[in-house]
Amino acid sequence: MITTVYGKSLVEWTAEYPLLTPILAGKPVSWFNPKIAPLVEALNDIELGPQDVRQASERLQRFAPLLAQVFSEVAAAKGIIESELVDVPSFAQALCERYGIDKPVRLLLKKDSHLPISGSVKARGGIYEVLCHAEQLALKSGLLHQSDDYRCMAEDPCRTLFNAHKIAVGSTGNLGMSIGMAASRLGFAATVHMSADARQWKKDKLRAHGVTVIEHAGDYGQAVEQGRRQAQADPYCYFIDDENSKTLFLGYSVAGERLKQQFEQQGIVVDAQHPLFVYLPCGVGGGPGGIAFGLKLAFGDHVHCIFAEPTESPCMLMGVYTGLHDRLSVQDFGISNRTAADGLAVGRPSGFVGRSMQRMLDGFYTVTDDELLMLLRLLNQTEDIQLEPSALAGAPGVAHVLHESQGYLDRLGFCNSLAASATHLIWATGGGMVPASEMDAYLGEAH
Ligand SMILES: *Cc1c(COP(=O)(O)O)cnc(C)c1O
Repeated sequence: MITTVYGKSLVEWTAEYPLLTPILAGKPVSWFNPKIAPLVEALNDIELGPQDVRQASERLQRFAPLLAQVFSEVAAAKGIIESELVDVPSFAQALCERYGIDKPVRLLLKKDSHLPISGSVKARGGIYEVLCHAEQLALKSGLLHQSDDYRCMAEDPCRTLFNAHKIAVGSTGNLGMSIGMAASRLGFAATVHMSADARQWKKDKLRAHGVTVIEHAGDYGQAVEQGRRQAQADPYCYFIDDENSKTLFLGYSVAGERLKQQFEQQGIVVDAQHPLFVYLPCGVGGGPGGIAFGLKLAFGDHVHCIFAEPTESPCMLMGVYTGLHDRLSVQDFGISNRTAADGLAVGRPSGFVGRSMQRMLDGFYTVTDDELLMLLRLLNQTEDIQLEPSALAGAPGVAHVLHESQGYLDRLGFCNSLAASATHLIWATGGGMVPASEMDAYLGEAH
């Protein structure tokens, strides 16, 4: 039984932060951020800007011909790793019935679940950081110039150079998949430190692609810690630090301008009259944080980003709500950090993301595992789209926004009808590579 956390009793914590009472009881909650600020102000909290996102975007362009050559999955898209944006009207209707929403809702699904190469949102940040590292090594050794055709990196002598270097990462599964696949295909020796909750099929798939998988008994934080320590002892090993990497963050952020293009192509307007609400599943925070940053730069104050976490791993919500950020782990408060949403099973949030984004994020909510599995089955039934549990975390968001009673919509200057006429977007973060037998188990698990 926990009584004292960081020098304060639980009674004192809950008196100061009342939302902790339902959070600690494992109940789903929502919290709309009173510190939300106009973008021009909120940007003061972050040391990155539009020029950094532009550079990331240009880097991905330089690499596109190489990716098209090395990964047949992206040859047709000329080496650009991007996902589909689809309408899900039947799912929207089912959600409205389930959550008692009496107005029609325009609901879109961003299918990062089906991104090529690794079948999850990690194909944005993870692959990008591997590319950055490869580029740096090749530039530094004089084997590459920025104006070269980057396909030279698939040939000797670059290949020999990469063979002599290692890339390591700690992961609950999907980041390891993305980094392992990209690193090994470019010729690096890749090591993935997997947490205990990582799925067997992800480990098998990586091993089949020549990646070294080290299994740890502990959770994500411990896998990262041990991986980091091992990598530090080896000067040829580059460790990708998911908790604090600005490179990963920038890889994700390119999604903002890409989504804006897709909206333009599909004729979907985002402006003061037509706000966009985006619901992003959050683990350590780099993925949703980077995407939210990119969305803010692309759509300005007309986009509203809301993070979703499991009731058993609400680390970013608690970090931002209490201001403790990465000084906090949910386990210190007696929360289990055990969830079927393996991509989200993170107990300690990224301090970088929490501090940099704390006035750019409109809100946070939590969702139970039972609800995730129910929603997984509902999406399968209504739209025949299969996702992994984590990726459904964004689905209840529209109900939290439309039913909110914390004065959030008023603060934004919206009456409820305007929010109902907005566009709502669920960021589907993973599931495209889940084997059929696993998916059947997920579908059977729902009740
Ligand atoms: C990693 C992951 C997330 C969240 O990304 P973070 O950077 O950990 O916050 C969400 N969904 C899935 C499926 C993931 O793999």
